[in-house]
Amino acid sequence: MKFQRLTFFASLLLTAVMLLLVYIFDTAKHEFSDSERQFFLTLGISTFLMLVINYFVIDFLLNFYGKRQIRKISTILPEELIHEDEQSLNFQELGARVSEMSQKNATEIDTMKEMETYRKEYIGNVSHEMKTPLFSIQGYVETLMDGGVENIAIRDKYLERIDKSVERLLNIVKDLDMINQFESGEITLNISKFDINNLIREIIDLLDLEAQKKNSKVVLQSSSPQIFVNADKQKISQVLINLISNAIHYANRELAKITVKTSVIKNKILVEVEDNGMGIKPEALPRIFERFYRVESSRNRNDGGSGLGLAIVKHIMEAHKENISVESVYLEGTKFSFMLEKAL
Ligand code: ADP
Repeated sequence: MKFQRLTFFASLLLTAVMLLLVYIFDTAKHEFSDSERQFFLTLGISTFLMLVINYFVIDFLLNFYGKRQIRKISTILPEELIHEDEQSLNFQELGARVSEMSQKNATEIDTMKEMETYRKEYIGNVSHEMKTPLFSIQGYVETLMDGGVENIAIRDKYLERIDKSVERLLNIVKDLDMINQFESGEITLNISKFDINNLIREIIDLLDLEAQKKNSKVVLQSSSPQIFVNADKQKISQVLINLISNAIHYANRELAKITVKTSVIKNKILVEVEDNGMGIKPEALPRIFERFYRVESSRNRNDGGSGLGLAIVKHIMEAHKENISVESVYLEGTKFSFMLEKAL
């Protein structure tokens, strides 16, 4: 292409020189002799012919050569990039297709690398979570086998601990299973109309023993005694259990107070779970909904928390097409809130 343009401009330049000569002669009032006229005429015609020939012949040759090269290249390039029978394709188009394909491949490789890192982290987290209860079960069983079983007090205490560790393992497996079902779209919501205040009261009763152990008080504050929502009752009850039991467990003061608030906002119901516990540092806040993420290892719950509670909460709210949001002031308290559809 460059060569073709070069010859074209060279011929153009020659024509221009010739015209300039004629002009100079003309302005000098020079009378042309017959041989001079003949010379200029021949020069003009031949330059013009050269221009046309250059343009078409070179264009033809380049096209012919280019197509042959493209045909050869097409045998080694993938099918989706070029078909053997594609006659009209030129190098520019081929170049654009190649760079588009390499861009696509680079993006795919990045996604695969991300998934690989995610997979490694995921397996690492699962085995880490399972290791603790499994090692304790192993330890207790060994002690019992080494004669501990003869001592009734030790036997009962260790069996109880084994039971707790098994429960913890089951919780992890159940939570993982639920997250997998959410992610593969297997979970469908069972929407019904129910009184959210009534459900909250039931959950407060259910968690009362846990709250008492931690010296915490859970209360419901609502704008009216009954508030009806359209949602999946069983799943929303899981959201509330996770949020309220977290609030109980991450309380760090003598008299912890957890308030569950419900209020009507237009055609929605706002549910808030607020505690005056240890709070979460701002840098950790965006990560707490990630699976297995824990703010500090020292704060790990040793009583059944799988590190998956908030990830499940997020999935449940997303399935309801709602958001879960969190506000927290470190060492002062945390507030989780979400909306539900108001039932008419
Ligand atoms: P876990 O089983 O560890 O409680 P979650 O997914 O429920 O897992 O919570 C993730 C992390 O978020 C917790 O480990 C904790 O550090 C933090 N967190 C959750 N709720 C609260 C809260 N109410 N107050 C302070 N920190 C919290």
